Amino acid sequence: MPTPSKKLGLLPPYLFTEIDRKVSEARAKGVDIISLGIGDPDLPTPQPIVDALIAGVQDPDTHNYPSNQGNIELMTAAENWMQTRFGVSVEAKKGEILSLIGSKEGLAHMILAYVEAGDVVLCPSPGYPVYNNYTLLVGGEPYTLPLLAENGFLPDLDAIPEDIAKRTKLLFLNYPNNPTGAVCTEAFIKKAIAFCKQYDIVLCHDNAYSEMTYDGYQAPSFLAVEGAKDVCVEFFSLSKMYNMTGWRIGFAAGNADLIRPLATVKNNTDSGVFKAIQRAGAAGLNQSAQLTAGLNEIYGSRRTLFVNGLRELGWNLAMPEATFYLWLPVPTGFTSVEFVTFLLEKCGVVVPPGTGYGSQGEGFFRVALTVPEAKLTEVLERMKTAGVRFDMKTAAVAG
Ligand SMILES: *Cc1c(COP(=O)(O)O)cnc(C)c1O
Repeated sequence: MPTPSKKLGLLPPYLFTEIDRKVSEARAKGVDIISLGIGDPDLPTPQPIVDALIAGVQDPDTHNYPSNQGNIELMTAAENWMQTRFGVSVEAKKGEILSLIGSKEGLAHMILAYVEAGDVVLCPSPGYPVYNNYTLLVGGEPYTLPLLAENGFLPDLDAIPEDIAKRTKLLFLNYPNNPTGAVCTEAFIKKAIAFCKQYDIVLCHDNAYSEMTYDGYQAPSFLAVEGAKDVCVEFFSLSKMYNMTGWRIGFAAGNADLIRPLATVKNNTDSGVFKAIQRAGAAGLNQSAQLTAGLNEIYGSRRTLFVNGLRELGWNLAMPEATFYLWLPVPTGFTSVEFVTFLLEKCGVVVPPGTGYGSQGEGFFRVALTVPEAKLTEVLERMKTAGVRFDMKTAAVAG
């Protein structure tokens, strides 16, 4: 048999294999497993978007190949949304917007468009695995930027060695952040822009959670900050905004010259997003505020319930202002994998270990608030019954 590319061997092992096996085993034994594992909304896509898709499918004009850049409906909706939501002016006709088959596709192809052997990509850890892993797949060098709790999960750009910065093509940032739920300040964005200008780096901002925010917090677009348009491409995803993960739609916005290489890779790889889905996405963007308000009320209330429950179990936590994730330190004496195994075996609860998001995730686990409140209450009760406390010790559990 021909051997696949050696680069595949560079990818970190898939941490969920062992957990998936244990989940199947437990389910086979009739254990009622509650999964807070994947970041995939449990709620349906809002009806106006579904209706727009149905109407779109009925129109034969949607049945052929879309244009490379994207439908006029999606481009216009994206322009208007960027303007009303963030005060950012981007123009499709100048090449400042590009449709994506979900932002994951765009992030990966951005790396393919820019990175060769010897090039460095700055990848936060913990972080969305695509940045690191696709860099390895194209033969580039990921350089880890640790996101530490004591720095509010913002990377220390001043700590990047000069020789690394000089070889860097792309800096990936993601605020509101998966997996930590952290948000960033305007001062930090300014710093990132200045850093990217100094070293001629593309600032790739993954803004997948811009609309999933609570308590009046509004996440910014990096493009709204002065000078960003010189260095920044921002990646937006409709997946988490409107519960559309399965639909595969997003867009890139920002500097046209920086987006063009991504468009070239895509022209030689894919043929765009089904036009009816683009029209449906446009319908979402055109009434975004109404759609997200209702969803955020649900996710926000789940967050309040679960954080309060965890506080009773000894976790000293702030209420996160964004995303549907909680990034939690594991109790004393456990590794990440040990604690998620404990939760699975003793509570029937599935969560990913922090190490699934990079080496800096050791000592943490992630909770995705993707089940109704009754189930979250059940999870808290199971944890209490199993004696879970933040200050518990492994030895106490074993005994
Ligand atoms: C979910 C997610 C994405 C990908 O979203 P798609 O548009 O569905 O590909 C990108 N970045 C982060 C951080 C995510 O959590």
